[in-house]
Amino acid sequence: MTSTTHLSVASLRIHGTRSGIVALSLFALCACAGERAPAERQRPNILFIFADDHAAHAVSAYGSRINRTPNIDRLAQEGMLFRNAFVTNSICAPSRAVILTGMHSHKNGVFTNREVFDSAQTTVAKQLRAAGYQTAIIGKWHLKNRPTGFDHWEVLPGQGTYYNPDFLTPEGRIAHTGYVTDIITDKVLAWLAEGRDPERPFLLMYQHKAPHRRWEPGPDHLYLYDDQTIAEPATLFDDYEGRSSAAATQEMTIARDLYEDDLKLVPPGNLNEAQLAAWNAAYGPRNQALQEAELTDSALVRWKYQRYIKDYLRAIASVDDNLGRVLDYLDESGLAANTVVLYNSDQGFFLGDHGWYDKRWMYEPSLRAPLLVRWPGVVEAGSQNRDLVQNLDFAATFLEMAGLPVPSTMQGRSLVPLLEGTTPADWRDAIYYQYFEYPAVHSVRRHYGIRTDRYKLIHYYEIDEWELFDLASDPEEMRSVYAEAEYAGVVDELKARLGELRAQYEVPDEDPVPYPEG
Ligand code: CA
Repeated sequence: MTSTTHLSVASLRIHGTRSGIVALSLFALCACAGERAPAERQRPNILFIFADDHAAHAVSAYGSRINRTPNIDRLAQEGMLFRNAFVTNSICAPSRAVILTGMHSHKNGVFTNREVFDSAQTTVAKQLRAAGYQTAIIGKWHLKNRPTGFDHWEVLPGQGTYYNPDFLTPEGRIAHTGYVTDIITDKVLAWLAEGRDPERPFLLMYQHKAPHRRWEPGPDHLYLYDDQTIAEPATLFDDYEGRSSAAATQEMTIARDLYEDDLKLVPPGNLNEAQLAAWNAAYGPRNQALQEAELTDSALVRWKYQRYIKDYLRAIASVDDNLGRVLDYLDESGLAANTVVLYNSDQGFFLGDHGWYDKRWMYEPSLRAPLLVRWPGVVEAGSQNRDLVQNLDFAATFLEMAGLPVPSTMQGRSLVPLLEGTTPADWRDAIYYQYFEYPAVHSVRRHYGIRTDRYKLIHYYEIDEWELFDLASDPEEMRSVYAEAEYAGVVDELKARLGELRAQYEVPDEDPVPYPEG
């Protein structure tokens, strides 16, 4: 599948508006030299909706086999779905730092979940704010300090809790009763209705905790999927043959590495009396049935998969329901017409793929993230894009949406032309990826690599092992063809291109993350 197939369709569909957009760009070029002329395209509001660990293969618009997400799907029907949206470093805090700065981890300093974000850095929020946008962040922040560049912020401390979460605000730490996805949405709706200046455009970052581990369902979804068996991935019983030794030595299997709190064999610790009663009513009989069944081996793995995936999908159901509330509000308030709505996640996730949960790898399930963008009057409804895009591109995108220049220090590229339906001739042919958090929980080896539309080359550089996947013939990445003679030319080409990308992004030769001592 090449990146051009869809484009003929997309450009045909958007053909009628192209001349208007070109005229607008020329007009904008002329206008910036002299006094500010009235923009033909009004500066849009930007609503960035961010889930935590929501894999694209758990979104029905992406063809999920395991759940329905009608409100996220609405963004696909009314906007553009990106088929090849990837992250640069598949883990929570680094992803957030990349989005704010438009720079790779080795430039913004957040390599792993351990570093504190350097808030002296330029961020897209600061730039939009300086240009007159109101900026707000509500929900999960996870960068270990107080948010800067935001007029309004209410964020979870660290990972936060699903039930009865505290929020950090400029006024201090405030306790809440209820379920985190509902509460974050209540705050978002309150800020949209009453917290902002209606005369100025806004950037609102609406950032969920869900569906992050430990996948605790909300009170409205405790029984969802109760009488169903969720489809298993084809690779649930992967034996890790045919790949780097790293694939076998990780600690993130459903079989071995889920604990009793992950599996809800014990309730969460912070429920109030009524919440605990509701929880026990749902999980008590299920756990009793498990004890009586006395499962072992593969039957137990299958049971764990069902428990894990149902809870994960229940947490997503709440995200989707709450998105519906927000989309309804945008319609009712009249904001929808001039608000760009984006849906994204900080990375993908393994949904039993390769026998795993969690993320971190450059393998497809965790490298890929959902990205859907609705922008009335600009994005063709129901369109799709297959170009290689990354979360690295969001900062430049938001700046261009607001009519602002993109600083040369930013390493991403604006998606606005893609959203308008035209891919620039020099759009990237490959993405760069690097993961640094080892030794650490889940024991995933450090690696970097390159992905093109067809191939993926990964270097586990601490152990100097390589993998090459031909995604055309092996989309599940079950067999590295790195050592096969017929791929020798591909390996050489990709290594050369990888070297160019590392030079382009100024990746230091020496690993910038020291090993913890001891
Ligand atoms: Ca995450």
